[in-house]
Amino acid sequence: MHICVIGAGVVGLTSAYFLQSEGHTVTVVDREAAAGQGASAANGAQLSYAFVAPLADASLPPRLPSLFLTRDSPLKLHFRFDPVQWRWALQFLRHANTRDARATTEGLLRLAELSREFIEPLIEGEGINCHFTRSGKLVIYPDAASLAAARAQVLYQTGLGSRQTVVTRAQCIEREPALHAYQQRIAGGVWTPTDVAADCGEFCAQLAQRIVQRGGDLQLNRTATGFDCEGASVRALLTTQEPIRADAYLLAAGVGACPLAATAGLALPIYPLKGYSITVQPVGDVVPLTVSITDAKRKVVFAPLGDRVRIAGFVEIGSLDDAIPPARTSALLNAMREVLGYSVIDGDVRPWAGQRPATPSGRPILGRTPVEHLYLNVGHGALGWTLAAGSARLLCDVIAGRTPTIDIKPYAYSA
Ligand SMILES: Cc1cc2nc3c(=O)[nH]c(=O)nc-3n(C[C@H](O)[C@H](O)[C@H](O)COP(=O)(O)OP(=O)(O)OC[C@H]3O[C@@H](n4cnc5c(N)ncnc54)[C@H](O)[C@@H]3O)c2cc1C
Repeated sequence: MHICVIGAGVVGLTSAYFLQSEGHTVTVVDREAAAGQGASAANGAQLSYAFVAPLADASLPPRLPSLFLTRDSPLKLHFRFDPVQWRWALQFLRHANTRDARATTEGLLRLAELSREFIEPLIEGEGINCHFTRSGKLVIYPDAASLAAARAQVLYQTGLGSRQTVVTRAQCIEREPALHAYQQRIAGGVWTPTDVAADCGEFCAQLAQRIVQRGGDLQLNRTATGFDCEGASVRALLTTQEPIRADAYLLAAGVGACPLAATAGLALPIYPLKGYSITVQPVGDVVPLTVSITDAKRKVVFAPLGDRVRIAGFVEIGSLDDAIPPARTSALLNAMREVLGYSVIDGDVRPWAGQRPATPSGRPILGRTPVEHLYLNVGHGALGWTLAAGSARLLCDVIAGRTPTIDIKPYAYSA
């Protein structure tokens, strides 16, 4: 088939790559001048296969007032007079219970495992240089209470096949000596040897090249404006240039997916959650970072990328522009100084902001739609890099009419 993929982020590109390897011809359309310029450009760089628990869980509602009212809180609400925001927020709160959080965690663990199975051979097989490193991941906790909650989650996930261990403060420093100066602020941690760090933006740029080398058509600087439908069937993708006709259309446009889906009569519950990162090169005689770290208190992640370090964090609900307030960059730089003791040369900090395409439940939406020829691969929220390859493989199963490798029901589109 000729399949038109809308969106050249990590989700659209991995989909295009695997569809091509199944023998399909692909056209990938993106409004930007290069691939991987959306949320995939400079994200936290963690392939976080074992940390997939959703943001909405039972512990969240009682913490909301303090989270929203504290200065420098990792979670911020920009209240808007916008029913779309209110609807999303209400649905999000409805999912903030143990039953839903567990259902999402179980589904995402399976999808993440499938992703691991496919992404690592892809990176190796295609010779993609994206600073892929089997770093393992260490999540550090500030006090006994948060460590106890983490221990309970580890016990629960052990039953689901995760390989994680709770480690002491001394073991945290042993695993990552760069944390030495911060040790008094660490009660303990959770160590996951199987998690990985890699640069998602680099991966996208190089994967796009491979797709083109194999005959794929990459249409950059071309904005999709909607679907031309006849009844419940897509006839063409409308763009700022001439329409594109294909046998199937895969919508993988991240936060840009909602208005496009609406033109085919589909309502997607996706809302942008803004986050920030900086990429820095530490100077001086420093202990290099070798492990992927998450500071659970600050909700900031640190990932090694060659001689640089990516530091990412913050979730802002309703900040829809791409501005980078200096206070966010300073907060990430402070986290770097305090947690790792690094310093950087002024001006050698690459600040970035991106919008996570989030569903209220934390589960992506993928597969068929009620509209003929139209498929979805959207809504990967905070885990798109981690889940991209598994989602793309499931989509290939659906398009080929095979029984999907894992149960696809949790990700099905529902009106
Ligand atoms: C601060 C931050 C840290 C993160 N850290 C991690 C992490 O450590 N690990 C992890 O797994 N995930 C992480 N994520 C999440 C991850 O980056 C996203 O889930 C993922 O990038 C989403 O990929 P995507 O392809 O769906 O969207 P995008 O990368 O946004 O791609 C969508 C593409 O569609 C294009 N597009 C949109 N509308 C149109 C249109 N109308 N016409 C043409 N083109 C269009 C856009 O230009 C864009 O290129 C993080 C996100 C943020 C913001």
